Amino acid sequence: MNFIGIDSPLYDSKIIYRLLAYSKKINGCRIWGKHLNAGKYGTLGYKGRDELAHRLMWWLFGGKPLTPGLVLDHIGCDNPSCIEPNHLREVTIGENVLRGTAPAAVNARKSCCDKGLHEFTPENTIWEKGNRRRCKTCVLDRRELMKKERKKLEVLPC
Ligand SMILES: [Zn+2]
Ligand SMILES: [Zn+2]
Repeated sequence: MNFIGIDSPLYDSKIIYRLLAYSKKINGCRIWGKHLNAGKYGTLGYKGRDELAHRLMWWLFGGKPLTPGLVLDHIGCDNPSCIEPNHLREVTIGENVLRGTAPAAVNARKSCCDKGLHEFTPENTIWEKGNRRRCKTCVLDRRELMKKERKKLEVLPC
């Protein structure tokens, strides 16, 4: 039988101490001062494995672990190394991607193509590898233009 909460950091005074001692309040954020992973998120050892510091803070202050299937998103500060529980909220992975600053996220937020002429409707969107979107109208225009240019070359006298 699994007793809910027995695995919780709430029962681990050492982890609470480390979370607070290894972080520093700066401009409302609580910035992690120890190891950061590749995504600039704070990590620390917890129960024999690397755990995300902000996720443990969420657990600690919210009284329950992150809801399965959701991820934590920084609201307001967008600072991955911030572990301030008030700067965190649970979101779906899709929401997090849309709010992010990764090229795919920035691209996905745009509603118009680079030229600003055509809307990214489902019919006018070509998805490329890596979740990049391209404007179908622009791609076809460019293809037309290339064809015309090639024709011009063909009729040039030798
Ligand atoms: Zn923050
Ligand atoms: Zn376009």
